[in-house]
Amino acid sequence: MPNATHQAIDDSLVDREQRHLNYLRISITDRCNLRCLYCVPDGRIPRLSHDQILSYEEILRIVHVGIRLGIQKVRITGGEPLVRNGAIDLLRRLTAIPELKDISLTTNGVLLEANAQRIFDAGIRRINISLDSLKRERYAHITGYDMFDRVWAGIQRAHAIGFSPIKINAVAMRGINDDEIVDFGRLSLAYPFHIRFIEYMPIGNSRTSSQDQILTPEIQERISTALGELIPVENGRNDGPARRFRIAGAPGEIGFISALSHHFCSQCNRLRLTADGKLRACLLSDHYEPSGKFSEAVAPMSS
Ligand code: SAM
Repeated sequence: MPNATHQAIDDSLVDREQRHLNYLRISITDRCNLRCLYCVPDGRIPRLSHDQILSYEEILRIVHVGIRLGIQKVRITGGEPLVRNGAIDLLRRLTAIPELKDISLTTNGVLLEANAQRIFDAGIRRINISLDSLKRERYAHITGYDMFDRVWAGIQRAHAIGFSPIKINAVAMRGINDDEIVDFGRLSLAYPFHIRFIEYMPIGNSRTSSQDQILTPEIQERISTALGELIPVENGRNDGPARRFRIAGAPGEIGFISALSHHFCSQCNRLRLTADGKLRACLLSDHYEPSGKFSEAVAPMSS
């Protein structure tokens, strides 16, 4: 492993569009314990074998190279990150890296209740939990598994432990869960959660179609009609593409990630590292670079 005392060269990852890439999303596994309609095709899907996925040592090495190029923020995702053995240990090793200003986790929450305290003790405070329905049967329909109660218990546990912010990500789909938009919005009145509506993106071989899309303006209209004006909340510099709002008096927020109706490509600051070590600049493009290229871009490593 390289020595961890790298000097950060802030903002040196600047692409042709003059975007400063300082945020690395790392998928630590392609495996998942859910089969969401919009994410997983029907039937068996090929899985990477154990020796195809990056080891934790390799991931950490890439993170250290990234830091030298200006990466300041890391998110651990998947697949479902918590299904991979040792994921929490990786989180602990990442939070020990002083150059990283922000380390967060995206999970479907199925394994959260059992692991929330260990994740917190590993130093993670920011957590995103995917939840596309507040109804048990519908949740099972969307995800393929009757896990709503477990996920909700995980969210409550994370809240009790003190994670903040807790972001709840809901992919809005017409005819599938759009009748719950206001209920999701209402959660922000009851809890300090950040509810984020994600526009469904027609990527991969999902079992949903573009007819299922429901765009942000319509979601906003439905929420403000039912719950009151959406008051804008200012985004911080590293906040990413969500446009944030609050209903007067609410402890929580409502945000919108609008890849379709409000392109945020010009502000994108992300790189993605896939479980098998590919670096992708854009979710919507098949283009990738092997992550080894990352290390070629900086002076030779000390090991
Ligand atoms: N298993 C973790 C989870 O469920 O949060 C992390 C991986 S999951 C692929 C990351 C996020 O991508 C989830 O919030 C999911 O809802 C979202 N997502 C997946 N496919 C999508 C699509 N076609 N359109 C919009 N969001 C999508």
